[in-house]
Amino acid sequence: MSKGLIGSAVLSGLPLSCVLGANQNNSKKLGVALVGLGSYSTYQLAPALEDTEHCFLAGIVTGTAEKEKIWQDKYNLPSENIYNYDNFDEIVSNKSIDIVYVVLPNAMHADFSIRAARAGKHVICEKPMAMNVEECDAIITACNKAKVKLGIGYRLHSEPYTKEIKRIVSSKEFGKINYIGSEAAYRSTTNPDQWRLNVKLSGGGALMNMGVYAIQSAIYGTGENPISVTAQEFSTLPEYFKETDETITAQFEFESGAFANIMTSHNVSANRLFGSCDKGWFELDPASTYIPLAGRTSKGRIEFKQESQQQLQMDDFAKHVLLGTPNVAPGEMGKRDMIIVEAIYRSIANGGAKIPLDLGNMGL
Ligand code: NAD
Repeated sequence: MSKGLIGSAVLSGLPLSCVLGANQNNSKKLGVALVGLGSYSTYQLAPALEDTEHCFLAGIVTGTAEKEKIWQDKYNLPSENIYNYDNFDEIVSNKSIDIVYVVLPNAMHADFSIRAARAGKHVICEKPMAMNVEECDAIITACNKAKVKLGIGYRLHSEPYTKEIKRIVSSKEFGKINYIGSEAAYRSTTNPDQWRLNVKLSGGGALMNMGVYAIQSAIYGTGENPISVTAQEFSTLPEYFKETDETITAQFEFESGAFANIMTSHNVSANRLFGSCDKGWFELDPASTYIPLAGRTSKGRIEFKQESQQQLQMDDFAKHVLLGTPNVAPGEMGKRDMIIVEAIYRSIANGGAKIPLDLGNMGL
């Protein structure tokens, strides 16, 4: 390593070991195994892994035998990198898999994330992180114990429009933030057999699915964790949404005096983040779809090149593993959001009571 590189490592605040590790691994791309080959893996993650710079699709884990050959042929996967749910733990001896990415129904996140950690693999776990806070803790503990990295599939933290909102907020470009409105909702009323309507597999309805985006928007829109929440549930199709929440609104208070109103639904279309500040405003609409996001502020349009959010997200995680760059969506962030989800459900169960939250800087 040259003296100049050591100097810039010290200046950038990176531990020297990380930079040395980076150089050792410069030519290495990390192998990712996708667990669960449903629509998100098929149409977003696998195609994105064809373009990632620091990782690639190395293997699959599927419960559907017919998918094995289809994926093997399509992505030229070696037979020894193909697993099912039963023989998954054998992945421990597979040196070509570095990261296991869990893309299963929510009820299976904790089991597979913990098994992946025990096999010594770095873990990306899809959102919502798990069914409850207890499971989030179990995943975090397993990853810490195995000394592997843990990231949550919060793609927006790697995405330029969201990063710009975070920059505006932290630089106080528009002064104090007074109000955030955030909505993350879509209509899904024609597929009664989907697992998202089965509370044993999903853990909840709109709130567990799109709701975490609305919660996240309120947090990066203020740069703070909420100190209290009140919430309400609305049901217009109780025969369809038998087990899971259809529409939820919730209000957050923040230490700075800012407040937020969020809405999430499986029976309304809305996707927006709006922030009102002392000296202007900002808006993303849409704010959490895959592509393309769009943004404006009181000063004008926000415009960035459209890139695959999933590609950026997986490269960010791979760089975190390889180079020691920040983990932009760590397990603590997923756990914090689950604490808020549980508080929202508790408020609803108690007739909209105000639930205090004591999150400190968790996940910020
Ligand atoms: P999906 O229904 O399309 O796929 C689910 C996969 O799990 C399928 O391959 C299915 O065979 C498998 N599976 C195993 N056991 C199952 C069971 N008991 N019931 C149903 N399916 C079972 O779901 P998806 O949209 O790919 O979502 C998977 C995960 O990814 C969820 O946690 C979801 O929240 C998350 N997700 C995240 C994003 C994002 O933008 N970050 C987007 C979509 C989905």
